[in-house]
Amino acid sequence: MASEQVVKQYLAYWFQLGKKVIIGGSGKALIPQSIMQGGVYSQEFEKCWQLITSPEARDSHLEGTPETISELLTDPWQVMPCARCTMPVPMLNVGIPSLTCPCNDLSNWPNSELPAPRSPVNSQAGLIGICDRVENRTWGS
Ligand SMILES: [Zn+2]
Repeated sequence: MASEQVVKQYLAYWFQLGKKVIIGGSGKALIPQSIMQGGVYSQEFEKCWQLITSPEARDSHLEGTPETISELLTDPWQVMPCARCTMPVPMLNVGIPSLTCPCNDLSNWPNSELPAPRSPVNSQAGLIGICDRVENRTWGS
């Protein structure tokens, strides 16, 4: 099954491309204004996550996809990169990809000229790693 961290990242990536989440029960479409803040998920994103994973909204799903978020957090679902655009998409453990990547109805995606969506923790760590390496090289020479 996909871990909470992975499903969060899946949502964060698609939010960055403007996909909304349809809240179960109310049918309301929701997208946080800010997704990241200082290297972590924003409070707004966390609130949105709480709502999506609450028992009243267990049918919440990403716009344009049939899989619900609570479904992804159970066996036998995994999140894998889409073959077309490398964005995270739900996939069954047995290796059958979901027929509908949310990128299906994005006419401007994949687009190598747009910054690729990222997750807060990794990008921050990556950046620090690069800075360290550059500094070490400078001081070492
Ligand atoms: Zn795709």
